[in-house]
Amino acid sequence: MSVPGIKLNDGSEIPQLGYGVWQVGNDEAVAAVNQALEAGYRHIDTAAVYGNEEGVGRALRGSGIARGDIYLTTKLWNADQGYDSAFRALDASLKRLGTDYVDLYLIHWPVPSQDRFLDTWRALIELREQGLVKSIGVSNFRIADVERVIKETDVTPVLNQIELHPQFQQNELRVFHEKKGIATEAWSPLGQGKILENADLKQIAAKHGKTVAQIILRWHLDIGNIVIPKSVTPSRIRENFDVLNFKLTSGDHDAISALNAQDGRIGPHPDSI
Ligand code: NAD
Repeated sequence: MSVPGIKLNDGSEIPQLGYGVWQVGNDEAVAAVNQALEAGYRHIDTAAVYGNEEGVGRALRGSGIARGDIYLTTKLWNADQGYDSAFRALDASLKRLGTDYVDLYLIHWPVPSQDRFLDTWRALIELREQGLVKSIGVSNFRIADVERVIKETDVTPVLNQIELHPQFQQNELRVFHEKKGIATEAWSPLGQGKILENADLKQIAAKHGKTVAQIILRWHLDIGNIVIPKSVTPSRIRENFDVLNFKLTSGDHDAISALNAQDGRIGPHPDSI
């Protein structure tokens, strides 16, 4: 079974299941991305700040898979926000990745204390017009940030990549995204591995003969999220991809919905970065 595509508001399509490489070293990324490609992933999520774009690019070029068959995302780091610096940042990312375009370029954090995301966004719009990035989006943007981008530039991000997992379900943002035609991409979709011992999830997993990680990823796909789980362990990389051939019941969905917690955030708050 192949990975479903999610249609974005600029007409392009993103594979709903991808592979993330945060906290994977540059050299380690070569082997990890190779494993992911072998397992069947065709969507890779990196960022300038991860320090592994060069390794990711090496793996992609060495794989023999056509560039057009890979969906590649990278992100502009906070220190590079601003109109001119955004052009330089993408140029540096493309050089490290060894490619002449990325499929998706994201502003990594809104950084309200700098208040430069509008200028940055205007640069991203031009980079898209130049064909150096196919789609543009944001990450960790709050509702007010997204509204400001749309109001000031008339260009709606294709997606917002946010922390989202059963313990932190982001229902308000998800409803807002849907209204605006913005896709929701879940980072730390497995809660960084910290929610895998949950008893309710274990029970659902046992019932389906699946692992908790697989149950969580199936839940994300069912509710329309794009997911980019990370692992450097080959068996887990394969396990996280093997989620396309089973279904959760509505009872399973109810039980997972009930795990949402007001204070369930694991990563940093966008207010404070
Ligand atoms: P994740 O939720 O994907 O969890 C990864 C961890 O869970 C692994 O390190 C491992 O310890 C464990 N794990 C993974 N698969 C497992 C399995 N099958 N069984 C048991 N344990 C397993 O966390 P993440 O890496 O934080 O998030 C995924 C990706 O999201 C990142 O690699 C990155 O690409 C992206 N991300 C983006 C932002 C952002 O600000 N935009 C922030 C964090 C992460």
